[in-house]
Amino acid sequence: MNIFENIESIQNIIYIFSSILFISGIKMLGKEDTAVKGNFLSALAMFIAVSVTFINVINPLIVLIGIAIGATIGSLIALKVKMTSIPEMVALFNGFGGLATFFIAWSEFNSIPTNTFQYVLIMITTYIGGVTFSGSIIAYGKLSERLKIEKSSIITKLFTTLFYISIIYLFYSIFVAKIFIPSFDFFTILLILTLLGGIGFVIPIGGGDMPVVISLLNSFSGIAAAFAGLMLLNNVLIVAGSLVGASGLILTIIMAKAMNRSIGNILFVGYASKSSGSKSEETGEVKAINVSDAYLILENASSVIVIPGYGMAVAQAQHVVRELGELLEENGTEVRYGIHPVAGRMPGHMNVLLAEANVPYDVLVEPDDINPSMDSIDVAIVIGANDVVNPSATEEPGSPIYGMPIIEAHNARTVFVLKRSMSSGFAGVQNPLFFRENTRMLFGDAKESIGGLVTEFKE
Ligand code: NDP
Repeated sequence: MNIFENIESIQNIIYIFSSILFISGIKMLGKEDTAVKGNFLSALAMFIAVSVTFINVINPLIVLIGIAIGATIGSLIALKVKMTSIPEMVALFNGFGGLATFFIAWSEFNSIPTNTFQYVLIMITTYIGGVTFSGSIIAYGKLSERLKIEKSSIITKLFTTLFYISIIYLFYSIFVAKIFIPSFDFFTILLILTLLGGIGFVIPIGGGDMPVVISLLNSFSGIAAAFAGLMLLNNVLIVAGSLVGASGLILTIIMAKAMNRSIGNILFVGYASKSSGSKSEETGEVKAINVSDAYLILENASSVIVIPGYGMAVAQAQHVVRELGELLEENGTEVRYGIHPVAGRMPGHMNVLLAEANVPYDVLVEPDDINPSMDSIDVAIVIGANDVVNPSATEEPGSPIYGMPIIEAHNARTVFVLKRSMSSGFAGVQNPLFFRENTRMLFGDAKESIGGLVTEFKE
């Protein structure tokens, strides 16, 4: 065995060690008290894996310069980004993961693949990487509301057609194009069609479905990395890519279930029922309440469910919410927090905010746990949530959000809705909850309203 084979074996052993660290780190993310350690362990694993790759890099300076540029840009973006814009940032970062594998596959093609397996891997990696990149850019545009294109527009139809053409062309590239004498012309067409196809994949999907799409694109970026690992025969890339691919897919399935939709329906049908006559313009008398009156009701409540949504993130009200929760508990009230899986603008958004404010994990409940006993709750405090408590989702077959499971706040004895106006939520539909007999609207910024309640309790 010569010295290089020895180095490669050591490298591979360290890669396996890093992979074990990755998996242990991810497992630790599942529990609140071990999550920070798990995050650190996974980051350490990545550091070890990247460092050991340097051993046999021919020109480490170029790689170091690349890492320095990437790390600087990434850190600047991550430091600057607002909590409410994290999902857009995730969409962008997914895209760059896809772009990296797209470039790797392109460069492997240029060094002329030596066997069919290698060739097929290049075609597939190019495709998944490219679609992930351009699809993620569109997802970013849609989430940040910079890109507004109607599903029925000519542009959408054109790109959707290009998406289907790109799939056919991928099969042509794999099965028909000359395998051992690769022609650069057909590959250039594949590169272009792949990027256009990614746009066509995401463009017809509605903004409300973007969380699921981003999670799916995240999975794609992992799958592309795993294929790149196979192409480069790099074990740690295969393991890390597969982990991202599998976990992204599991999250996609969980989110689709939370919206009571199939993945196929989200990707290829959308909220098809939008056209049928929804009654969600339902109006009626809105009963407003002020902080002092809301306090009097809360002071006498024996059970309260707090239902946070996107507005709590906008108002950054999580700390005063925790304070109110503690004051209510001191007053003898049982307080729980109803967390909807798609509340906010990213998976786990509410969990992150409440954890930041030190709300204990064991008082968080999911819709299925709380809905059956909602009628025994004295007060449901809806804080900047809208779509996730919209009764049209369960009561109006014509509603655009019909079928999405909700937290059934309307079944509580009294409901306080904290928001600034009567405007609709992310899905753009009116919420009949605001007009219900047992609902009281506490208008204003959530942080100020909750702050007012906290002051009342303290006085
Ligand atoms: P919504 O977007 O439905 O509603 C948020 C509400 O917060 C608005 O009606 C707004 O009303 C209110 N609000 C905004 N700022 C403030 C403030 N400072 N103080 C008080 N209220 C405020 O949020 P939900 O969490 O209920 O639902 C999430 C929606 O986002 C779902 O449709 C989901 O599908 C979608 N989505 C989810 C993602 C995820 O991964 N979780 C990602 C992308 C989309 P007003 O302006 O009157 O104050």
